[in-house]
Amino acid sequence: MQIGLIAHNKKKKDMIAFCEEHSHTLSQHQLFATGTTGLKINEHTGLSVHRFKSGPLGGDQEMGSRIANGQIDMLFFFRDPLTAQPHEPDVSALFRLSDVYQIPLATNKKTAAFLIASLSE
Ligand code: PGA
Repeated sequence: MQIGLIAHNKKKKDMIAFCEEHSHTLSQHQLFATGTTGLKINEHTGLSVHRFKSGPLGGDQEMGSRIANGQIDMLFFFRDPLTAQPHEPDVSALFRLSDVYQIPLATNKKTAAFLIASLSE
């Protein structure tokens, strides 16, 4: 599977903890992430992650492009619901594309736990 990983700054800790906990499962898939999220995941877990540009610099749109081309099967996007994002239109577009293409999408760690469990069944 091709899996997308994105976390807003205040959610990066959650994303790293999630990837550490599920590194065995994640290591069996192709991983794609926005720039800083991917860097931090790689540094903390050693997982191999293909990195796009940072989210605010177009990385979210790169992820959206892969979704539109059938190249992302599942998306983990830990969003920060309490902080305004300068690239909010890109974030909304990504959620919209996930719905257009029926991509399973987890926006918080509890939903992520359900999705990742479905991969190890
Ligand atoms: P980042 O982007 O991984 O480069 O921080 C995430 C985002 O805010 O979309």
